[in-house]
Amino acid sequence: MPDLLETFASIFGSAPDGVWSAPGRVNLIGEHTDYNGGLALPIALPQRTLCAASARDDDLLRIHSLQEGSSVEVRIDDVAPGHPGDWTAYVAGVVWSLREAGYAVRGLDVVIDGRVPLGAGLSSSAALECSVAAAVSELFGLDLLETRAGRSILAEACQRAENDVAGAPTGGMDQAAAMHCREAHALRLDCRDGTHSHVPFDLSAHGLVLLVTDTRASHALADGQYGARRDACERAAEILGVETLREIAPDALEGALGRLPDDELRRRVRHVVTEIARVDAVVDALREGDLAEVGRLFVTSHESLRDDYEVSCTELDLVVDTAVAEGALGARMTGGGFGGSAIALVRTDDVDRLSSAIATAFENANLGVPQSFSVTASGSADRVSPE
Ligand code: ADP
Ligand code: MG
Repeated sequence: MPDLLETFASIFGSAPDGVWSAPGRVNLIGEHTDYNGGLALPIALPQRTLCAASARDDDLLRIHSLQEGSSVEVRIDDVAPGHPGDWTAYVAGVVWSLREAGYAVRGLDVVIDGRVPLGAGLSSSAALECSVAAAVSELFGLDLLETRAGRSILAEACQRAENDVAGAPTGGMDQAAAMHCREAHALRLDCRDGTHSHVPFDLSAHGLVLLVTDTRASHALADGQYGARRDACERAAEILGVETLREIAPDALEGALGRLPDDELRRRVRHVVTEIARVDAVVDALREGDLAEVGRLFVTSHESLRDDYEVSCTELDLVVDTAVAEGALGARMTGGGFGGSAIALVRTDDVDRLSSAIATAFENANLGVPQSFSVTASGSADRVSPE
């Protein structure tokens, strides 16, 4: 943390009142299900974003990031959709949305150090928001970090900051993961009612690791395609007379598909309904210690995202195909798609061989240099110091 504390002192002239942190996440399964009222199964990453902060007794926000630089000043009253128009929306938006929710919050001096890769589909944005929310809760005595209900309030405020101020129309999975995940557990998240439960996820007991590969690819169509998928799901739900596609049970899928007007819409719906069912299949397999089955479900999920939902890309397919060919129990793209990261379930002894096979495959295909690293399921947003 020395860089963070030194930067804070050099910009603001004193030590921060405290340092808080929140994790990035990777979703094990349940992709593009959150906005359909479905299920997801994220774990928190060991990579975290640190937020050093001091409370102010006026309404000014002074914000700096070791990754993005620039010290920006904005008054809480001036925060609005689209303002501030850069990355500081993720910080200012959180303070703004907590105030909108009725909490008595004031200004802050903030320096951010994000250790979650930015824009890799590992949710550096929610890690940033949630580290700030944790700081605000403690600095202004909101006491929201102490309880599950309080943490849900913070997660919602962070989601609102991302949706309304930063203008990114994402579901609530990332913030829920950053606020509720537990070490050595995955979070079974029910996006219909916001409830969650913890599922043991300790791969080391099975001689396995979860390998994350950041493809470093980010295809420009991501935003437009995300919106198009959401629209398709809404249209299908309307035709089928349900509020969300969650209401279509797997055994009612064939009948539902028969009532949809075109093949594309049928494939979108088939992905969502089967993917929601796969989440609980993975939960069951984890509880039974059947990791081979988890691996198979990863592959089925990837195929569904690639062929039915059409959100994969060359780089993600290459990671998955290479990992499986080299002996991974399973692999799939994770996150929204069109770039970002993939995960693979890998025997501990195979990690190095698999990582270099992926790197070689990218080199041979003239793609960028991917970054592979193993992760363990980690804990949620919290205070780092003072202890
Ligand atoms: P992801 O959440 O998958 O990393 P997003 O596009 O949702 O991708 O969020 C990435 C954006 O979040 C960055 O472009 C930047 O605006 C902001 N961000 C995240 N971490 C930081 C950081 N440490 N410093 C400044 N901005 C950050
Ligand atoms: Mg994000």
